[in-house]
Amino acid sequence: MKSYLTHLECTNCNQNFSADQVQTICCACGKVLFARYDLEKVKQYWQKSHLLQRPHNIWRWFEIMPVLDSKHVVSLGEGGTPLLRAQALGEKHRAEQLYIKDEGLNPTGSFKARGLSAAVSKAKELGVKTIAIPSAGNAAAALSAYGSRAKMEIHVFMPNDTPAMMMREATVYDATLHLVDGLINQAGQQLRESSENWFDVSTLKEPYRAEGKKTMGLELAEQFDWVLPDAIIYPTGGGTGIVGMWKAFEELEQIGWIDGQRPKMISVQAEGCAPIVQAFESGADHAELWPDAQTIAPGIRVPAAIADYLILQIIRDSNGTALTVSDSEIHTAIYEMANQEGVFAAPEGAATYAAYKKLLTSKTLQPEEKAVLFNTGTGMKTPDLVALPS
Ligand SMILES: *Cc1c(COP(=O)(O)O)cnc(C)c1O
Repeated sequence: MKSYLTHLECTNCNQNFSADQVQTICCACGKVLFARYDLEKVKQYWQKSHLLQRPHNIWRWFEIMPVLDSKHVVSLGEGGTPLLRAQALGEKHRAEQLYIKDEGLNPTGSFKARGLSAAVSKAKELGVKTIAIPSAGNAAAALSAYGSRAKMEIHVFMPNDTPAMMMREATVYDATLHLVDGLINQAGQQLRESSENWFDVSTLKEPYRAEGKKTMGLELAEQFDWVLPDAIIYPTGGGTGIVGMWKAFEELEQIGWIDGQRPKMISVQAEGCAPIVQAFESGADHAELWPDAQTIAPGIRVPAAIADYLILQIIRDSNGTALTVSDSEIHTAIYEMANQEGVFAAPEGAATYAAYKKLLTSKTLQPEEKAVLFNTGTGMKTPDLVALPS
């Protein structure tokens, strides 16, 4: 297996950077960098049949993954998650083609494992010894696990009201936990103030987490036999998933594995923290910082996203939309997904089903459209959201 990684390119000013040294955002304009590959060569040398012998994890896509030497891969078996038919939930709405992509089965219980397997592997290849992250919870847990496996020193910065399990995870993996009186953006600020040259893998400021998350899009394409669904409904925090999947679709088209048809990319946020929805509705290219962000779904309690301009552009280019759901709608959806489909979803994942119902009511989506709900994590990390038996 060979990676066809060539360089990093700025998504805003198109300046190129070497992929052979540690790099975060664009030095010229401060925006997000994308990993680029020699897709002409990939097209020439890589065939779908090569996938047949490879295990179902994120590294089966090695040709378009950023690690050059496979000995640097730090893997816990992330990716290869099931695409479940949601027949019972679908029938309630006469929807025949509703699916759940269940990311709760990943190592550390969320899709953050994909991004951090990629980022930690590439950091290891580039010789990083100390690694740090601001996180709403799950990213810290994932970095702690992968960082331990890579024998790195790990610092995680998270809000002091992060769900207890995610703090416990950081502790058991022996990361240094820094609790912050504030949200993920303040955690990032504190990291930058206290950093002693630690490598900061903040989402989309570090270019390779998105490469790990793009594998969700690659898997969807493969699981749907290379014809993408009509809609993807995704809980949006930093937006790495949306940005990564869209990049995956572009790369797959360039290597000739899919055609130009794209799903509507639908971004779901909480009523108490909806910067992307607000910017989408007002026609803005960038989102404003959301004050006093509040929701029971920690992964989408993200008041500002560096990739806001990319998320908004993808939603618009795909003919998608952005909408909010309330905490009580999320709560109801957790129970419905569990008792109808057997999926104990994270609140962020449940938000996508709550949103799906609204999209049908408003006729933004039709019941016959093939739609995928992304359950981005397991509900078992936030047990307090469900009642004990009385
Ligand atoms: C981080 C997180 C999200 C938000 O993901 P982005 O790709 O950064 O938008 C959603 N759900 C869960 C469970 C998360 O941990």
